[in-house]
Amino acid sequence: MNIHEQYNDIKSRLPEHVQLVAVSKTHPASAIQEVYDLGQRIFGENKVQEMTEKSPLLPKDIQWHIIGHLQTNKVKYIAGFVDTIQSVDSEKLIREIDKEAAKHSRIIKVLLQVKIAEEESKFGLEPEQAKEIFRKYINGDFTNIEITGLMGMATFTEDQDQVKNEFLILKHLFDELNKLKPLQTLSMGMSDDFPLAIECGANSIRVGSAIFGRRDYSK
Ligand SMILES: *Cc1c(COP(=O)(O)O)cnc(C)c1O
Repeated sequence: MNIHEQYNDIKSRLPEHVQLVAVSKTHPASAIQEVYDLGQRIFGENKVQEMTEKSPLLPKDIQWHIIGHLQTNKVKYIAGFVDTIQSVDSEKLIREIDKEAAKHSRIIKVLLQVKIAEEESKFGLEPEQAKEIFRKYINGDFTNIEITGLMGMATFTEDQDQVKNEFLILKHLFDELNKLKPLQTLSMGMSDDFPLAIECGANSIRVGSAIFGRRDYSK
């Protein structure tokens, strides 16, 4: 299948309430334009430099999401245009985003990334840390960010029970925080596990290779 067919195939498999973030990292602006022309408006990148290089080449109504670990000293490069930062994994980072958003008189949407995978390497907040930041948010600690939900990545494993358990940990935390202040977005699921993520309550998924094909990191 080509990009066109793969995109339409994914879209046809998504329930109405599930938002698709097309993960375009490593792919050129031309590939993004192709998917944009099919109607897609939300694109995810994991590197600031890639996003700042590609975004000027593409339509202005694209909603750019950062989905990868973000260093605080790079927030300033995207604060003027980024729609959502899905990978908030420290209080220091959220404070920096708040500060930079204020400089642009903007509200930047953020998701708290919670560590649900067993793997050591994955970034993310512990559930308790996420709760603490959310309480500060409710108390009015931040003026120029909106915490719209949670994001998580499951362990890379064939074990579907494990993946499901990890997704459900995030779903439960989402429900708990949602009672304190309503949240919109539960971002979990990628090319290989999005159907399971949706079963577990995801309403936003991040799909890269199933749309754009395999990534080539050699370039
Ligand atoms: C790359 C990436 C994705 C998309 O992965 P695919 O397996 O290509 O769909 C989703 N989320 C994050 C955080 C990523 O870095």
